[in-house]
Amino acid sequence: MKDLWRLLLRFVPPYKKYLFLNIFFNILAAFLTLFSFALIIPILEMLFKVKEATYEFMPMGSGEFKDVLINNFYWATQESIVKWGPVGTLVALSAILVVMTAFKTGASYASSYFVIPMRAGIIRDIRNLVYDKIVSLPISYFTTERKGDMMARMSGDVAEIENSIMSSLDMLFKNPVMIIVCLSVMLMISWQLTVFVLVLLPIAGVVMGKVGKRLKRKSLQGQQQWGTLMSYIEETLGGLRVIKAFNAERKVEDRFRNGNQRFFNITTSVQRRQSLAHPMSELLGTLTVAIVLCFGGTLILSGSSSMNAASFIYYMVIFYSIINPAKDLSKAVYNIPKGLAAMERVDAILAATNPITDPENPRHIESLKGHIHYKDITFGYDSDVPVVRDINLDIPAGHTVALVGQSGSGKSTLADLLPRFYDVDKGSITVDGCDIRDLRVHELRSYMGNVNQEAILFNDTIFNNIAFGVKNASKEQVVEAARIANAHEFIMATEEGYDTNIGDRGCRLSGGQRQRLSIARAILKNPPILILDEATSALDSESEKSVQEALERLMKDRTTLVIAHRLSTIRNADMICVLHEGEIVERGTHEELLALNGHYTRLVEMQSMG
Ligand code: ADP
Ligand code: MG
Repeated sequence: MKDLWRLLLRFVPPYKKYLFLNIFFNILAAFLTLFSFALIIPILEMLFKVKEATYEFMPMGSGEFKDVLINNFYWATQESIVKWGPVGTLVALSAILVVMTAFKTGASYASSYFVIPMRAGIIRDIRNLVYDKIVSLPISYFTTERKGDMMARMSGDVAEIENSIMSSLDMLFKNPVMIIVCLSVMLMISWQLTVFVLVLLPIAGVVMGKVGKRLKRKSLQGQQQWGTLMSYIEETLGGLRVIKAFNAERKVEDRFRNGNQRFFNITTSVQRRQSLAHPMSELLGTLTVAIVLCFGGTLILSGSSSMNAASFIYYMVIFYSIINPAKDLSKAVYNIPKGLAAMERVDAILAATNPITDPENPRHIESLKGHIHYKDITFGYDSDVPVVRDINLDIPAGHTVALVGQSGSGKSTLADLLPRFYDVDKGSITVDGCDIRDLRVHELRSYMGNVNQEAILFNDTIFNNIAFGVKNASKEQVVEAARIANAHEFIMATEEGYDTNIGDRGCRLSGGQRQRLSIARAILKNPPILILDEATSALDSESEKSVQEALERLMKDRTTLVIAHRLSTIRNADMICVLHEGEIVERGTHEELLALNGHYTRLVEMQSMG
């Protein structure tokens, strides 16, 4: 219960207005229920001649308000029996009952009407929060397993919160009001009986709660398993090509079957337990009514109560009308643990900390020249195992430095440290003499353009993909960038030119075309610092040539860190560094390195043989 209040306190405040209206109409509905059923008493008493007393009209103020009201109601009924006869009165009272009920249901509807925007709004807010969090978390946070899990939390858990907590919200605000109002009237009619009811209801509630408790743990397991399934799907969609090529359909199918079966086992048990709620509350409800009926009846028969038969019937009617809200309430109590379990999982994302933070007193570089300096840096993904060690690398503004070396030697790692995708463990990186950790992350990244081996494109038009990193790019600017990137011609050859949608991750384009789009994107951003990580290695030699041309235009006058697989493409770099097992073992120009006859020479020889 405490968790629930904390949750509501967090998300409800922006919807105070709706909550207020909701509660107002709930109270109204509760009172209308009471009054509409209160009509029953005089009908019963007078028509069936239980009461023989005659009533005089009492003017306002001649007694207590409540007494005057009751008295005059009886008087009106009595008058109408005289005027229209018993049947006429019966019809009239029934008509009033219907009208009152219409008002009551109207008020009920109004209360739901106002709670709905709050309910949907809270869910919208949670989704936005999670999405923003996902975007803000560092790259290191997301492994494949995590991605599936994220999707599960974003879809499954949020839906669970909506289903269980939010749909219970209505009951949570409506039913207590109803129950309190009805109980107070019941107290007025007969306190003995009501005290008795007050003892009975919580007992039933505790029984229900017992079953609910285990539901939370089970449903947590269910959500986790759903996360696993989502990660399978994520992986499969990404790797469908490989799965087919390696005839691994059976293998992944089996894996999915097993996971799905586990999910089935858990959900079956959760749902069985959950559907226990209905028959159980039904039975407990009837049991309570039966007990109250016996006890109340005995009170009247023995004459030890002020209640008469008519008010006892009224009492039972009101009691009956709180049985349903009480049942709903117990169902809500039953459902909420499930939602809270889901909320816990969503909160785990929201609570994830981002180690890459802005400094407290950020510095600002007025006009960046682009001098990069790696000073004695050491870094490892797992901080016990350094991937790059004691790197010193000075890149003067406007220079191009190439990193070469075997795969796994740490080239990409070095490049990723520059935009702070990861933070160094030891040493520091400076741009124009300023530690990159002293800059705002946003400012730092605004100085850099990236082109990677995998062109990362979005399911959008060519125009929007090129203009992705720039606000309000004009058509002319985009076309100009595309021209420099050697992309304009193939873009014009597509059906709708710049408005062509390139499909999921650019699947409707060839590798070279995709790469030229991502180069055009970098050109348009016009950053002083450029990071090229194997930008051409996924391409055939034909498209490599046109991409290489595009890249050379891009690199002009910028500080460039280029990682190249094919050594021919970096021959003209101002300096080439050979990375071996996380250390720079050789550095110099192409000719100088060849003269050394060391690692670099061996790399060149291996390539020219291949
Ligand atoms: P290169 O780009 O030179 O081929 P990388 O810099 O990508 O090499 O990788 C260097 C080493 O770091 C490799 O041994 C690799 O296994 C490891 N590595 C790369 N990325 C990660 C990561 N996200 N988490 C853990 N280890 C990684
Ligand atoms: Mg790499």
